[in-house]
Amino acid sequence: MADTRKVLPGDEVAVEEEYLAADGTYNENGVIYASQFGDLELDLNEMTAKVKSPNPPNVLKPGDIVFAVIADTKPTMATCDVVAVEGVKRGVGGETYGTIHVSKISPGYTEDVSKEFRKNDIIRGRVTQAKPSLQVVTVDPHLGVILARCARCRETLVRKEKGLYCQSCDRYYSRKIADDYGQVVI
Ligand SMILES: [Zn+2]
Repeated sequence: MADTRKVLPGDEVAVEEEYLAADGTYNENGVIYASQFGDLELDLNEMTAKVKSPNPPNVLKPGDIVFAVIADTKPTMATCDVVAVEGVKRGVGGETYGTIHVSKISPGYTEDVSKEFRKNDIIRGRVTQAKPSLQVVTVDPHLGVILARCARCRETLVRKEKGLYCQSCDRYYSRKIADDYGQVVI
């Protein structure tokens, strides 16, 4: 018997007392998290937690509006892993690891990439180049972070006038957010 639901990378899906981390999940301090977007399968026979990507894959092209997970931030760029094309149910194939250059993050000058994006943020971006390397931009108001978690407690940050806010930690965070932050259903 298997239970399925859609999950995003970083979502808590199970605990190690109950399930083993398998394809598409990882174990961190006894908690099992999704490592990719897809359908969660908690298999009660094998006692495994898996996340399977929707198929068949869809190859990215310039102009695509995509959802991606921030992988890392560096002084001159952020890297991201594209998980879905907006409005397309099929999974993404081919090269999904892209870069967002520091000058293509927001309309103004970006001094510090880590104030715009953080690892594991979910963003909406636009593909400007698919080959030889995947390039993504987030300058437009509708592009940017659509979901971010607190660096301390992992709670989903809420949008407030001064930026993004963690209710548990009473702490503000800065991000380049999309105009519909917190309201997006992928
Ligand atoms: Zn917090």
